Amino acid sequence: MEIDYYEVLEVTRTSDKESIKKSYRKLALKYHPDRNPNNKEAEERFKLINEAYEVLSDDDKRSLYDRYGKQGLQGNSSAGFDFDDILGGFGSIFEGFFGQGFSRNKQSNSLDSLQELTLNFKEAVFGCNKKFTHSYKVICNACNATGAKDGKLSACTECGGSGKTYIRQGFMTFAQTCAKCGGSGKQKVESCAACKGKGYKLKEESFEVPIPEGVDNGNKLRIQGRGSEGLNGQRGDLFLVLQVQDDENFVRDGENVYIEVPVFFTAILLGQSITIPGLRRELELKIPPNTKDGAQFVFENEGVKILNSKSYGKFVAQITIIYPKKLTNEQKDLLTKLNESFGLESTPHLNTLEQCFKKIKSWFK
Ligand SMILES: [Zn+2]
Ligand SMILES: [Zn+2]
Repeated sequence: MEIDYYEVLEVTRTSDKESIKKSYRKLALKYHPDRNPNNKEAEERFKLINEAYEVLSDDDKRSLYDRYGKQGLQGNSSAGFDFDDILGGFGSIFEGFFGQGFSRNKQSNSLDSLQELTLNFKEAVFGCNKKFTHSYKVICNACNATGAKDGKLSACTECGGSGKTYIRQGFMTFAQTCAKCGGSGKQKVESCAACKGKGYKLKEESFEVPIPEGVDNGNKLRIQGRGSEGLNGQRGDLFLVLQVQDDENFVRDGENVYIEVPVFFTAILLGQSITIPGLRRELELKIPPNTKDGAQFVFENEGVKILNSKSYGKFVAQITIIYPKKLTNEQKDLLTKLNESFGLESTPHLNTLEQCFKKIKSWFK
């Protein structure tokens, strides 16, 4: 079972930053190794508390965690945010699609941003150029990204500029990062009016994203140079997490696609051939007379293209046998005649269970 960061910090998913911080401080004090010498359990707990707080105290990480769980943060150690690992093997898939491809450059992590991109079934299965509009952060020139009016900063009043605060517990003193200034040691004299103290502004841009054939839910695309803008004017990367919508007829499972095909009972008995819609073309389906309800017929290589390969998945037609809801008198007559024409074959329950009928009768004699 996955550890829940909210549980670790003894808060709820809706707790605000302040109460998370409060709870963290309380727990961190309680389980601090200095207070629990030679206590392995406390030490583990302390590590976990810090790990949880690192995520839940950061808006970006918290929203990632809320949406994708711990998996969304994987590889995220203590400093910065390592997107390379959550991308896992996906990066290489898209190599070559975006110019320089997938680089494992970790320097611009803080400028990287993450967005969702929704595709319909067709766009994901066949690939497309998808128009995408998003807002990205650009530095506020008025305050040089400090968020302070005229860029003026003074020493943090909480920590006196050291970036650290100290807590005394009996004989022990331990340092922690100043919560007020986040360890920078500085604070704004007055907020920058141009960016309301945030240090950045949002700018909108639109561009086309080349979507490769066969992408699926949860695939991530790295788009170089479309993330936030840094002080040197360079931009981080944008990561698009794909959400693929369902189709009303085709059901996709990875590279395989299923379709339900209703077939009238007479067509089954007569072993007819029917034409069904495949993904790329019409397919001929020859139905053998002994076909059962729910039977599946597989068309190899008629499914979705497997990313990073030249092969395709399967296309599977699943039969639903349809019986008439009502019969006219004429149809009843026809069916009765048909039934009679089969003779003994039309009563298999009598023929095969003959012994059983006799047995039951003998029980009740
Ligand atoms: Zn500003
Ligand atoms: Zn401070």
